[in-house]
Amino acid sequence: MTLPAPAHPVVPVTLDLRDFQRVPRSTDECVALWDRLEPAVVTVDPLAGPRVRIDLGDEGEVGIWFLDPATAPRPLGPGTRFAIRGVLEPPEVRHACTTCRAAGTTTYAPYRCAGCDEDRRTGRVCEAHAVFLDGGLRASCLHHVPECRCGTKAAAWCSGVRCRGRRAWCRTHLRGHPADATVSYCADCYDERFPVCERDGCRGTGYIRCEHRTLSAMKACGRRVCVEHAQRWQVYGPYSRGVALCSLHHQELRSTPPEGLIDIILAGTVARAKGHRGQSASRRRVQLPRISIVRHILINTRRTVLDMEAIDRLFTGLEQRLRDRTPRDATVSAALELLAGHRPSRQEDIKRFREQHIEGRGHFDRLVQELRLTGRHQLADAVEFSDFRPRSRILFVKVPQQLQGSFIGTGGATIKRLRQRVGVEIKLERG
Ligand SMILES: [Zn+2]
Ligand SMILES: [Zn+2]
Ligand SMILES: [Zn+2]
Ligand SMILES: [Zn+2]
Ligand SMILES: [Zn+2]
Ligand SMILES: [Zn+2]
Repeated sequence: MTLPAPAHPVVPVTLDLRDFQRVPRSTDECVALWDRLEPAVVTVDPLAGPRVRIDLGDEGEVGIWFLDPATAPRPLGPGTRFAIRGVLEPPEVRHACTTCRAAGTTTYAPYRCAGCDEDRRTGRVCEAHAVFLDGGLRASCLHHVPECRCGTKAAAWCSGVRCRGRRAWCRTHLRGHPADATVSYCADCYDERFPVCERDGCRGTGYIRCEHRTLSAMKACGRRVCVEHAQRWQVYGPYSRGVALCSLHHQELRSTPPEGLIDIILAGTVARAKGHRGQSASRRRVQLPRISIVRHILINTRRTVLDMEAIDRLFTGLEQRLRDRTPRDATVSAALELLAGHRPSRQEDIKRFREQHIEGRGHFDRLVQELRLTGRHQLADAVEFSDFRPRSRILFVKVPQQLQGSFIGTGGATIKRLRQRVGVEIKLERG
């Protein structure tokens, strides 16, 4: 039994639009295209070849593929029904260069140009049209080269801390890295990276910031100083990094009263403690210098010789004033915490100093005696006891400037002889 052939068999076709410029975007457009093609299609014989090409002039060519030529009615005619089973489209370039598209061509564009963005479509730029500025990997098309603040086309991205490679500048407003030709900075970032030393005429880089601050003005001075010109105020002993100071603040120390110096030391230590907080557990706790060190700080800085009790009173007095301060801010709280932790060592130092004083006085008395025995009465009257360090057996004495020469003697002969007679090392306290 055979089925009757349908009265109007459908002719299945595929459209090959790979060489056609205006690929239909909707069903309506597709039907419209077919309406243009059909008059030509019905004139061909599917059995003569399953694929035919129809020339549409400037728009290119459309290929018709008969999928089942044997069942197609012969000849095809105006009454023949066709069914488009498939459409072959030209491969679409998903990332097409915006610049090229404006010129009527489609080019693969590997880079983005933010300036070319249209609505939600990301702007793209091809290899040939991409512009890269020095100091960054971001591209743009020729029209969208970033502008410097001055309005001219930028030449490079600034890699400094303020711009972080996100702001571009023109040649006039860029300064090159002194040693690396590929890196440049805007003026602000350059100054940040290579700050000028505060000393007049110094060409050094001010890598060090002045750390001068007081409890009532905790923001550090910050003036930039080069390594050579930076002054370290060694308030934490000879082996710990002292407080870095600019020339102005270093000079000021000399005329600052002891209370002021202790304020600066305390403020500096509070700042250090803050900087250390949250760092590794192995860090050394930041502490105030012992009063035995403070005593030498006062002598070296402003030629003031105070005994331990007097220095202790400076600290307790400051502590009292801080406790009375309201409201109590974080700085004051931190300062009080440091002072409380400092108290036991102060008591220790006072006790030790008293003991040393007794021993030291003995050595000092012998020194004065020795001076008298050798007829140096002027020196014997003028020399003053300053300090004695039992562990290193050093006796520190004060001798007026104009007498120091005769105390030391030619080539150090006198002081050497005094050392031998007294039996301890004798040193002049600076001052
Ligand atoms: Zn292009
Ligand atoms: Zn662009
Ligand atoms: Zn500029
Ligand atoms: Zn910058
Ligand atoms: Zn300098
Ligand atoms: Zn300063």
